[in-house]
Amino acid sequence: MSKMINFKKELVGCFGDPIWENPTEAMIEAAFAHHNMDYRYVTTLVPAEGLHAAVEGVKAMGFKGFNCTMPHKVSIIPYLDGLGESAAIMEAVNCVVERDGKYIGENTDGKGFLESLQTVINPQQKKVVIFGAGGAARAVSVELALADVGALTIVNRSHDRGQGLIDLLQKKTSVQAKLNAWQGEFAIPNDTDIVINCTNIGLSPEVVRVPVVKASLRTNMVVCDLIVNPPYTPFLQEAEAQGCIILDGIGMLVNQGRIGIKYWSGIDVDAAVMRRRMEEIYQ
Ligand code: NDP
Repeated sequence: MSKMINFKKELVGCFGDPIWENPTEAMIEAAFAHHNMDYRYVTTLVPAEGLHAAVEGVKAMGFKGFNCTMPHKVSIIPYLDGLGESAAIMEAVNCVVERDGKYIGENTDGKGFLESLQTVINPQQKKVVIFGAGGAARAVSVELALADVGALTIVNRSHDRGQGLIDLLQKKTSVQAKLNAWQGEFAIPNDTDIVINCTNIGLSPEVVRVPVVKASLRTNMVVCDLIVNPPYTPFLQEAEAQGCIILDGIGMLVNQGRIGIKYWSGIDVDAAVMRRRMEEIYQ
C-alpha cells in the first residue's frame, strides 16, 4: 500500500544586494530543523532592478513571505499590498508577510530590539540616547517611541540625516526627541537610562570603539550595541568595565527571526536554538 509523503516545502527567504554576509538563513533554518517545520529559507541575490519581478515571482509561487534588506527596504513598498503600523511610520520594510493572499510589509528591526531590551529594562518613560540616524536607528527609535519612552536624544555625525529622523519622529509619533551634533567624544548626560549604538562603528573588520567620554558611562545605564559581528564590541567591553548592564546585537537579530517565523507560520519557535547557531558562527 502506498503512503502519502509530502515533498512540498513552504517557501520564505531573504532578498538583498549584497547578500553574502547575511546570516539569517543559518539562524532560521536551525529553528525549522529543531521544530521539524516543512519550510525552506532561501538567501537570494536580488539586484535593485530585479526587485519588482522578484516580488511578482514570490506572489506567483505562493511564498509565505520573505525578509528584505539593502537596497530594498524602501523601494519595495509600491510592490506590496499594504503596510503594518510601524513599517508605515518608518516608511521601511524588512519583512513581508502573506496574509489571505495579500503581501503586507512589516518592520521587525525595532520590534526585535525592543523585545531584547525588555529582558533587561522596561523602557517606558526612560531617557534614551541613540547613536546614529540610519535605517536601524530609525526602526529602533520609532519602536521606542511607540513603547512610550520618556525622551530620545539622537546623536549623529551628519546633521541632515539626524534632522531627518527628528522630523519623522516629531511628525509621526508623540515622543520628545532632540538632535545632538557629534564631534569628538560625546559626553552622555548623567540622567540617561539607556544608550544604544545604532551606527556601523565597531563592525568587523574595523573593530573600533564608539567615541564617547568613558567616564560618562555610569553604572545605572543599560548600554546596547546593534553590531553582531563581533557581538562583544569594544563599546560593550568599555561599558561593562564601567559597571553598566550591556546588551549585544544578537538578541535583536534572533528576535527578528522569531517574529518573522511567527508571522509566516504562526509557530512560536525556541529563540535559544537560533542564538546558539549565531554564537557558533560569530564566536
Ligand atoms: P545606515 O547606513 O542606514 O546608517 C549608518 C549610521 O551610522 C548613520 O547614522 C551614520 O552616520 C553612522 N555612522 C557610520 N559610520 C560612522 C562613523 N565612523 N562615525 C559616526 N557615525 C557613523 O546603516 P543601518 O542603520 O542599516 O545599520 C547600522 C548598523 O546596525 C549596521 O552595522 C548593522 O550591522 C547594525 N544592525 C544590526 C541589526 C541586528 O539585528 N542586530 C539589524 C540592523 C542593523 P552619518 O549619517 O553621519 O553617515
